Amino acid sequence: MVDLVGQHAKIKAELEAAMGRVMETGAFVKGPEVKAFSEELAAFTGSKHVIPCGNGTDALQIAMMALDIGPGDEVITTGFTFISTVEVVALMGAKPVLVDVHPETFTIDPKQVEQAITARTKAIVPVHLFGQMADMDALVAISQRTGIPIIEDNAQAIGAAWCGSDGLHGQSGTMGLMGTTSFFPSKNLGCMGDGGAVTTSDDAVAARCRQLANHGMSRQYHHDIVGINSRLDGLQAAILRVKLGHLPSYLSARQQAAARYDDLLSGINAVQIPVREYRSSHVFHQYTLKVHPTHRDALRAHLSAAGVPTGVYYPVPGHAQKAFEEFEYDQEKFPVSDALAASVISLPMHTELTEEQQRFIVDSIRNFVNKDKNK
Ligand SMILES: *Cc1c(COP(=O)(O)O)cnc(C)c1O
Repeated sequence: MVDLVGQHAKIKAELEAAMGRVMETGAFVKGPEVKAFSEELAAFTGSKHVIPCGNGTDALQIAMMALDIGPGDEVITTGFTFISTVEVVALMGAKPVLVDVHPETFTIDPKQVEQAITARTKAIVPVHLFGQMADMDALVAISQRTGIPIIEDNAQAIGAAWCGSDGLHGQSGTMGLMGTTSFFPSKNLGCMGDGGAVTTSDDAVAARCRQLANHGMSRQYHHDIVGINSRLDGLQAAILRVKLGHLPSYLSARQQAAARYDDLLSGINAVQIPVREYRSSHVFHQYTLKVHPTHRDALRAHLSAAGVPTGVYYPVPGHAQKAFEEFEYDQEKFPVSDALAASVISLPMHTELTEEQQRFIVDSIRNFVNKDKNK
């Protein structure tokens, strides 16, 4: 699904030099590399502040702590996402209010967000799923009208940008009050371990996030609020600085690979290629097809037998997760998420994908479809 070994081999000297720098200075936690990376990522995203932290899940938690989200509060989000988005709301003691997603873009349905708002709603958390942004025109309008802040879960879409119908534009993670992202190795900007960040252009929110991530400390050994310990290593920051320099070319490699898949798959009517949200760029964290649910698992098995790995993101939406039983979600209210969980299949997508590999993958899909037809 990914080829990090191949990707890193090409920049081995740069990576080794960066890691060597950290060893020589001994700044393993905090220090100049972390500071420089934060500044460089702020410049890249157009966000005024970047608060580095331990991982993307912590970033969500820090963002929610910054808004004082707790028992009695509600946070509106989608269950068609990685578990963290919903999990952190529950962890804070608040109620994750889940709404369904758009059937073609897989991102949160703003109309349902609007209907789910109550006096207890403390935040709206859209997920920029698979590399494409949620409908920020509608969500920003809701946020402006109601005053409810947006936290963008931007773990999968760093580098994507929105260009709205009314001139509203911005990079992913910079259009809400806060954005959160992850540097998990397989993410579009990945390190060699865990890492994450909160992005915000609000000075007070940034200061609060920084304090929360550092034990609520105001000055050494003086703690004003209850915080957590969540930080990015110096080594990971040094690695991320190298990889951030290559990110534009990594994103265009993904986009080229996606366009090649589109081409190769045209004419195979049994699969639906990713539908582009015309107002967002797509940075293809995943290249996800829709197929008929009765064929999905057989197609996966066929591809696996041919040596082609695939992924299903996500087989169990939030409303159906056992961990969230206590919220007693109406299981009838998420027809789109349920349908997607049964029909999506993600193909290998990474910066090192070759045309030959993609031809082989698509030929394997074609063989499956033809075999099925002849039955
Ligand atoms: C990966 C991911 C996270 C969590 O990031 P970690 O660094 O693994 O904690 C959160 N939300 C989404 C949508 C993700 O894809």
